[in-house]
Amino acid sequence: METKHICIMSTDDNPMGLKEVAEILQKGGTVGIPTETVYGLAANAYDPDAVARIFAAKGRPQDNPLIVHIADINDLPKIAAEIPETAKKLAAAFWPGPLTMVLKRTERIPAIISAGLDTVAVRMPSNEVARAIINCSGLPLAAPSANLSGRPSPTTAKHVVDDLDGKIDAIVMSKDCSVGVESTVISLVDGKKRLLRPGGITHEQLESVIGKVEIDPSVLSSELVAEVSSPGMKYKHYSPKTKIVIIEADSQMFCDYVNRSVENCAAMCFSEDKSKISKPTIVYGNEADDMSQARELFDALRLTDSLNVDVVYAHSPKKTGVGLAVYNRMLRAAAFEVICL
Ligand code: AMP
Ligand code: MG
Repeated sequence: METKHICIMSTDDNPMGLKEVAEILQKGGTVGIPTETVYGLAANAYDPDAVARIFAAKGRPQDNPLIVHIADINDLPKIAAEIPETAKKLAAAFWPGPLTMVLKRTERIPAIISAGLDTVAVRMPSNEVARAIINCSGLPLAAPSANLSGRPSPTTAKHVVDDLDGKIDAIVMSKDCSVGVESTVISLVDGKKRLLRPGGITHEQLESVIGKVEIDPSVLSSELVAEVSSPGMKYKHYSPKTKIVIIEADSQMFCDYVNRSVENCAAMCFSEDKSKISKPTIVYGNEADDMSQARELFDALRLTDSLNVDVVYAHSPKKTGVGLAVYNRMLRAAAFEVICL
């Protein structure tokens, strides 16, 4: 099929384009849209046939549920059957923004969105173009990341074109994503508070609003992956074709390790490491700035395939703040292969 490219850089940039996107969505089509986390592949969340087209275009396993995106808190009761006090507090603190809450779902949410679970994941994005698209279509939008399943998530419109051109109805060509990793996912069902996936809203931020939040074991480990509470986390993810190995070490030890390696290798490193490395390098942010690492991670992972090396050694980020989300994605890209020096 032919995929339309519709340029919308800001809400007042292209009103006709916005209307066109809304009409495609209302007719059951699929559209790549910008959000602050990563680009999403959106369709009408109430229409099971439209949602099925998302799974088909991405090659996404049917047991990996989708996130529903809304632009108005008043639409939450249409999606979620129970809204606990903790959800209200988190929405007040972090919506619109990169936080997804798993809640009991209403009858209106088709089973295909939730992979047959009785829960639904919902979030309100802060990206103004995403919100305009939701508002203009008048629909809640189911939207997973707009990449081919298993590939690094898309943080630029070009990444979406590279993966999905010819497979979906349209791509909104907009700005690069400001956060760069997917949303934080927290489950609030059955009175529990459990972090299923770290993201742009940190564990520390969540606890500052609702007290103790348990971290699901799957966040930092490959164990329990068969029965994790967040089904999406069990898949090998975010992977370039090139083998990635994480190195946990300080800057000097990391650079020495890469320089001494006899393999045909490259380094995925912080800007501070670059001048100390004698092999090819791909930089992903600055060592002390986890936001910059999140913003650049997926583009860096995509670039590794252009280096023609056998292995890429990735300098581990810190596991605090947004660094926890960066490390969680990198672990999956590296198929959990970590060397601690
Ligand atoms: P993606 O949109 O590609 O970033 O993936 C959505 C993430 O949200 C996956 O990790 C899913 O497993 C998770 N998710 C979506 N719906 C649910 C749900 N009902 N229960 C638990 N996790 C969910
Ligand atoms: Mg995804």
